Amino acid sequence: MKDASKFKWPKGLKRTKTRESVLSVLEVSKSPLSAREIYSEIERMGESIWLSTVYRALDAFVEAGLVTKTSVLDNEITLYDLKQSGHKHYAVCVGCHKIIPMLNCPMDDFKPKLLKEEFQITGHKVEVYGYCTECKEL
Ligand SMILES: [Zn+2]
Ligand SMILES: [Zn+2]
Repeated sequence: MKDASKFKWPKGLKRTKTRESVLSVLEVSKSPLSAREIYSEIERMGESIWLSTVYRALDAFVEAGLVTKTSVLDNEITLYDLKQSGHKHYAVCVGCHKIIPMLNCPMDDFKPKLLKEEFQITGHKVEVYGYCTECKEL
């Protein structure tokens, strides 16, 4: 596998084949993936790995600040994505659990009615639910 990674390998993080594979799958993916999806993708590339190894690699990446972990549908689904440009939000299909990343942050224009002195906002979580095009037709 060629080392075309544009992400700097975090200092102090051990480089293993599984970790490199996990990272390359995330790099190619256009949407966030679950650990199971990453696992299947690596298996498809002909590598034999354990799902638990994928989870451990992802945990290490999250801890190193390279990957973001997002839970949707009341924590039923956990998704992993490379930490690239800021944060992301997702629209979740309640029919098939497909996850579609939002193109913007709906909170950009949102001005919470809070007094600055009383509360400092450091983050937010927004989820949108609905039906994807396939589920809508059923
Ligand atoms: Zn759907
Ligand atoms: Zn946002």
